[in-house]
Amino acid sequence: MTSPLSGLVVNVAEVLRRVGNVKDVDVAVDSNLLELGDSRIVTQDVPIAFHLESTNSGIVVRGTVSARYRDTCRRCLAEVRDTVTVEIRELYQREITDPDAYPLEGDQLLLSPLVREHLLLSLPDAPLCSADCPGLCPVCGADKSNPGEAECGCAVGASDPRWAGLDALRERLDDR
Ligand SMILES: [Zn+2]
Ligand SMILES: [Zn+2]
Repeated sequence: MTSPLSGLVVNVAEVLRRVGNVKDVDVAVDSNLLELGDSRIVTQDVPIAFHLESTNSGIVVRGTVSARYRDTCRRCLAEVRDTVTVEIRELYQREITDPDAYPLEGDQLLLSPLVREHLLLSLPDAPLCSADCPGLCPVCGADKSNPGEAECGCAVGASDPRWAGLDALRERLDDR
């Protein structure tokens, strides 16, 4: 019988044989195989280190997955490059009794959805080049994180209450 599953599949026939059986999955997976579908992830081979263990409720998958990503600082629009590492502890079940569990298809444990969901959820919604990035001048657009290059001299402080409305608007626009 050929498997209809595609992506990162682990055969868990041996693990399922007895409660307490374990299996380690230590691989670097081509991101295309994981179908990440997100251009922010720039790691080609995504490192995965998982420990599978058969329990009474199903197969517990524990471990970490990490990937490099590239994004744009929401304040100054500079490129942000960083790495996310996600701790994973999830359950796979043949017959779903836990609403958070992933389905087991026979002896096949499909890791791609788990890896994809956790990686994409861990990417920052509002990436910053640094936590205290001063952003762009709201008057002229000069990059205040780089004052040597773009000294604008506009008399606007980030704390000036007259600009609070504009800042809020800009943040709303950024959020979209
Ligand atoms: Zn920035
Ligand atoms: Zn300015």
